[in-house]
Amino acid sequence: MEAAEAVVKDANSFGCTSCGAELKYSPGSTQLKCEYCGAVNDIPVLPADIEELDFNAYLEDSSKQEEQIQIHAVKCDACGATSSIDPKIESSFCPYCSTPLIQSNAHEEKMIRPKSLLPFKLDQGQAKNKFRSWVNKLWFAPGDLMKAVLNFDHFKGVYLPYWTYDSATRTDYIGQRGEHYYVNESYTATENGKPVMKTRSVRRTRWHNVSGLVNHNFDDVLVCSSTSVPGEYVHKLEPWDLKNLVSFDDKYLSGFITEKYSIDLKEGFVRAKSIMDDEIRVLIHRDIGGDEQRVMSMNTSHSNITFKHILLPAYISAYRFKGKLYRFLVNARTGEVQGERPWSVGKIVLAVLGGIAALMLIYFLMSN
Ligand SMILES: [Zn+2]
Ligand SMILES: [Zn+2]
Repeated sequence: MEAAEAVVKDANSFGCTSCGAELKYSPGSTQLKCEYCGAVNDIPVLPADIEELDFNAYLEDSSKQEEQIQIHAVKCDACGATSSIDPKIESSFCPYCSTPLIQSNAHEEKMIRPKSLLPFKLDQGQAKNKFRSWVNKLWFAPGDLMKAVLNFDHFKGVYLPYWTYDSATRTDYIGQRGEHYYVNESYTATENGKPVMKTRSVRRTRWHNVSGLVNHNFDDVLVCSSTSVPGEYVHKLEPWDLKNLVSFDDKYLSGFITEKYSIDLKEGFVRAKSIMDDEIRVLIHRDIGGDEQRVMSMNTSHSNITFKHILLPAYISAYRFKGKLYRFLVNARTGEVQGERPWSVGKIVLAVLGGIAALMLIYFLMSN
């Protein structure tokens, strides 16, 4: 539906239902007097969310009842990541921050047994090639950093921990639908030094208070439960081909590092809810229709909540260079590369100068 793509209005403003003026309102207030036409606008308020406690208790209970597995793990003192290590290897580095890990700190660590995982599809050689071409193509990086990064000392296959949530949501909302109309307005223009009266068509918006209900079943809302890798890069590794998830089996883990979740089931659901809220907001706009929509308040209840702990495969490389940490991730299913991109001032200046020279050349050729 076309209308859903229409203008999204700031929910802290309210369109006067009498004259259409933009009025500021503070959430929670129930009445607002229009400072332009004097009309008193009633602002309906939804009751506060009371479902919250129920599903928190449910998630708390569930996480205790889930089957556990043990991994031989060590916690990194520098970044706090808890990841599995191979007891046979004498020394290793934290895959997230490249700090040396202390073997004597290793212990058996319990975690919720993953339901399923995506196996590694790219082997290390293929992932290195993806990474190499990304580095060569996209970077304005200092040359010696590129050399360091491409020696692949700290390039590891890691299973990143995720939660996925399903939920049937029901959202009551209160908002406004704006409909455009046009009025003729007269104005004075100057023509040949003389003032003349003219008219023009001006767009106005008529606001209606609306309320409604949207239902949506969410399936596999994905939340990364690692805090060791920057959220924005993890997010950009998506999409994952979740339809190819296979049942968890120890045998998939050998040769790779497994990170234990550091965001628990409850905290993960808080994040999942905010992802769901964004989608619900779009559904509400569609439901309101008209030319513009405002959502003043929404109240969502969740039912049939289910969750899964899953592992998704990535290659990670972390480098310390001149005191700064650079981290890169390769999606081991799709080959998507994401990471922190350092800039070399010298190379940027050269590129800019090159661009200016090219423009001058074009200008020169066209003006002759
Ligand atoms: Zn008004
Ligand atoms: Zn670390």
